[in-house]
Amino acid sequence: MARIVMKFGGTSMAGTERIRRVANIVRKQQAAGHEVAVVVSAMAGETDRLVNFCREANPLYDPAEYDVVVASGEQVTSGLLALTLQAMGCKARSWLGWQVPIRTVEAHAKARVEAIEADAMIAAMAGGEIAVVPGFQGISADGRVTTLGRGGSDTSAVAVAAALGADRCDIYTDVDGVYTTDPRIVARARKLKAVTYEEMLELASVGAKVLQTRSVGLAMKEGVRVQVLSSFVDDDATPADELPGTMIVSEEEMEQLLKDGEMERQLVTGIAHDKNEAKVILTRVPDKPGAVANIFGPLAQASINVDMIIQNVGRDKGETDVTFTVPQADLARAQALLEDRRGEIGFNRIITDSKVAKISVVGVGMKSHAGVASTMFKALADRGINIQAITTSEIKVSVLIDEDETELAVRVLHSAYGLDADDEAA
Ligand code: ASP
Ligand code: MG
Repeated sequence: MARIVMKFGGTSMAGTERIRRVANIVRKQQAAGHEVAVVVSAMAGETDRLVNFCREANPLYDPAEYDVVVASGEQVTSGLLALTLQAMGCKARSWLGWQVPIRTVEAHAKARVEAIEADAMIAAMAGGEIAVVPGFQGISADGRVTTLGRGGSDTSAVAVAAALGADRCDIYTDVDGVYTTDPRIVARARKLKAVTYEEMLELASVGAKVLQTRSVGLAMKEGVRVQVLSSFVDDDATPADELPGTMIVSEEEMEQLLKDGEMERQLVTGIAHDKNEAKVILTRVPDKPGAVANIFGPLAQASINVDMIIQNVGRDKGETDVTFTVPQADLARAQALLEDRRGEIGFNRIITDSKVAKISVVGVGMKSHAGVASTMFKALADRGINIQAITTSEIKVSVLIDEDETELAVRVLHSAYGLDADDEAA
């Protein structure tokens, strides 16, 4: 017997027919002898609808009341799933955030789970009852409803799994796993059997949007084994126990999978792309101590995330150009802020370009191997793709290129690292 947390996203919960499908998947896990807790999202589109109501009611809405409104989407689906399970003859009940309770800290609309007191829920589960928990919501120290930020149900699921000491947290979504790259770009992308937390963090944060990034960080911290799999499977599909999705595991577990021959050792695990970046160039910045701090201090204060940074070596007259990227959504704000401080910073021109994309190759394999970056540069050069900026970490190399070349770059790199599925397998 195992204790399993199952999480279902908004598309899987959209309507009574789909909820019945979900209930069937849940029922099967329980019938296999497992203790089951289910974490659910609101029906697809529901949270957006509720957010709009808040805006209409009061554009300067109070975040505490916003939380009361938007948390209701998950209250509906958790009750409906419990009802559906009961209709199938299962014992089931819903546990709202305040009933568990799921205690959170920090601001409304972006709360963080601090503690889950799961004793009562564990006792109920031990008695054969399926626990249904609405994702996304919790309770603050002063007893008010809170929410965890958009996409927060993934984080709820991982937090519940940690609190229950669950053997696995299965995240059912509308894709059936994590792929070597976006299958819409590369038809021969392969589904990965397993990725490490670190790889998933890099893949998620650079645009492989399967899980809320925060949930992956939490899983890593708490050592929760997460599996991503599709809820749109046939009734006679392989049961989840036989692992049809992608497991997100620790590096040690990955080592074991490699040793057992369950996974093939690869230099690069996946290739991500992100078109939501914009490039900023400040020309003729004084080449002296404090110049860069003058630029990035104010951006940090305005909570604008800077990603890639390049400072060229100083040229004559003690000046240099500084290039960096910010999220496209923050570009206008960043530009205004820098213009305001033109005197202080002392640059000549500000040049921006939002038609850029960041392409990243990610893999723990590169920790112990040289040559990953040079393979990337050569493969792109062979296709005449120009690199505008580069950053690296222990398990990632990212380049900034012209947005129009995104698809080409992803395809070229997918082949260059030998990630294309064999023709037979494809
Ligand atoms: N319903 C919430 C949202 O759409 C939380 C979630 O589904 O993860 O952001
Ligand atoms: Mg989601």
